Amino acid sequence: MKILVTGGAGFIGSNLCEYLLKRGDEVICFDNFFSGSKGNIKHLSADKKFMLVKGDVEKPYFFKVNGIYNLACPASPIWYQKNPIKTVETNILGALSSLNLAEKLDCRILQASTSEVYGDPVIHPQPESYWGNVNPIGPRSCYDEGKRCAETLFFDHRRERGVKIKVARIFNTYGPGMAADDGRVVSNFIVQALREQDITIYGDGGQTRSFCYIEDMIRGLVLLMESPDAFAGPVNIGNPEEFTIKELAEKIIELTGSKSKITYKPLPQDDPKQRQPDISLARQELGWQPKIELEEGISKTIEYFSKIVKRKSLKK
Ligand code: NAD
Ligand code: UDP
Repeated sequence: MKILVTGGAGFIGSNLCEYLLKRGDEVICFDNFFSGSKGNIKHLSADKKFMLVKGDVEKPYFFKVNGIYNLACPASPIWYQKNPIKTVETNILGALSSLNLAEKLDCRILQASTSEVYGDPVIHPQPESYWGNVNPIGPRSCYDEGKRCAETLFFDHRRERGVKIKVARIFNTYGPGMAADDGRVVSNFIVQALREQDITIYGDGGQTRSFCYIEDMIRGLVLLMESPDAFAGPVNIGNPEEFTIKELAEKIIELTGSKSKITYKPLPQDDPKQRQPDISLARQELGWQPKIELEEGISKTIEYFSKIVKRKSLKK
């Protein structure tokens, strides 16, 4: 099979490209390198089955493939808020050009949607039937509403044009392949701990998140892509174990053996107070559930960042 991964040079995309290549697929990675990097896919470039194309999903594009994973979009709040209009365009125009291609090729297309469609949820944990609590005009809206509208476009293309869609609502994912300057909580805390810098908790650290290790996420996305056409989702893919941000900070300090101290910074506007996926649907339809617990996943991620942080400090 020849598979297109938009956003393939990012964190999840590069791990997905690697997984697909390893099992024998041909892979086209299509990316504008906004938040991703060539470094993420350097180790794949020698593989004859791998092709890297620099470009933007916003404009109509064409590759002859058997399936499309549409991952192109910065995922970290600091990155998607750098250029919010561009974030909306990537989500909406990118969804349209990718859906048009899937329609032309009559192939499956998987959309990387997000737990952010639930906003700051008042239902807990969040099942797919929950419509969410999203501020349409706040600093996170470019991402949240962009992803919500992309879901609309996916389901309208299914209803009106019979496009074979799959929609995954991805919850916080972490692991090797994250950028040190990504700005998300796991990468920030591990890098700060390894550099013996203060660990920056935003707010009082009582807000919760549920963290899914990258290997579990890739397995879930591939299972969804390969599920029967009748099942389009949306389906939550995430780890239902819930932790406060303070607990995460303490766990990372313990596992790194760091002397870092915790400091408290202001909570960003509209920061969701709680987040935990209800994964009953993924269990039932995909036979999927995460296997890797936080401690194991964080330890592997510390190992990965240790190499990067060491390399960076050696270069100075
Ligand atoms: P990432 O920022 O590491 O990767 C996104 C990739 O998309 C980058 O390589 C970036 O350069 C590329 N990109 C951005 N805009 C583009 C454009 N207009 N055209 C082409 N390429 C473009 O993010 P990630 O963590 O790998 O997330 C991948 C996808 O999964 C995103 O769609 C994100 O919204 C979704 N998601 C991720 C998480 C998570 O916890 N990582 C959670 C929910 C949803
Ligand atoms: N966060 C934090 N310190 C950091 C980075 C993030 O306390 O250095 C908090 C952030 O305010 C949020 C949670 O950690 O409550 C998860 O943030 P992240 O940016 O990883 O993802 P998202 O908010 O999109 O779930």
